Amino acid sequence: MLRIGIDLGGTKIAAGLVDEGRNLGASVQEPTRLPRPAKELAEAVFHLAERLLKEQGIAWEQVECVGIGIPGTVNRETDCVEYANNFGFENVPFVKMVKDWFPCPLYAENDAKAAAWGEYLAGAGQGSRSMTAVTLGTGVGGGIILNGTILEGENGAAGELGHMVIRQNGRSCTCGRKGCLEAYASATALVSQAKEAMETSQESLLWSLCGGKMSEVNGRLIFEAAAQKDETACRVLERFTEDLSDGAANIINILQPEVLCIGGGLSGAGEALLAPLKRKTAPKVYSRASKKNTRILLARLGNGAGIIGAACLNEQVEKAAVKK
Ligand SMILES: [Zn+2]
Repeated sequence: MLRIGIDLGGTKIAAGLVDEGRNLGASVQEPTRLPRPAKELAEAVFHLAERLLKEQGIAWEQVECVGIGIPGTVNRETDCVEYANNFGFENVPFVKMVKDWFPCPLYAENDAKAAAWGEYLAGAGQGSRSMTAVTLGTGVGGGIILNGTILEGENGAAGELGHMVIRQNGRSCTCGRKGCLEAYASATALVSQAKEAMETSQESLLWSLCGGKMSEVNGRLIFEAAAQKDETACRVLERFTEDLSDGAANIINILQPEVLCIGGGLSGAGEALLAPLKRKTAPKVYSRASKKNTRILLARLGNGAGIIGAACLNEQVEKAAVKK
């Protein structure tokens, strides 16, 4: 049987087919068009899934279930989205609204947790017992998987790894606190730190790489400049990986997962990100003398992780149900 995974983002909605081997097949997407009322958004999600099936000539009878990743706090007991900043949702029964449209079982989860679940089942965490994922994007997302189950916490909000404070009275974070990991180690934070550094380094290669337009600076350009030994870019990345390693070591010290998976747009930098991160994290880990230590790996599924993880949420629910 096929499953449908839906990745509901702030800018686009993507839906894809996932087979029994957890492989991603055909997918479709469309703009999210925010701001939008919850009911209308729920309907749009259904129509996108239906378009996917129509285009592939597949009937609903061939679909086992649908999963959806939502950028907010999803309470699976109440089918409510308790908080979703991008959508302006506060205690909206959005999951219920989506469920009402679909003729098959539907599972919902926070998008970062869904993507972590995808990497755990079919990507970097495949075969491991426990995995923690950190996603470096607009913010810093997280997902904690322990013994085959996503850690939800009492209210579904567990795993907000981006909001651990790494510097007291540090940079302001979107959550209202100061000094969160997200304010230092997200892609957004990397870019803004590079821009600040450019202000005082007119000779930086970053200026020519962005064509003199600071608004064009992005994570890829920063890694490119560093690869060409640009002093400014190297200094910014040095600080960035140091901050990220504080977060990584904190996570490892608390959870000791088998795998720490680094995902999100910045993971595209590959070894240029991974090597310094591993080097800086190792001496900060409490268990450094242990023969068994967390493996830090790059995410493998890219943007597909969210769709695959959402489609495979039924595997998690079933496992959880078996335990009870
Ligand atoms: Zn925060």
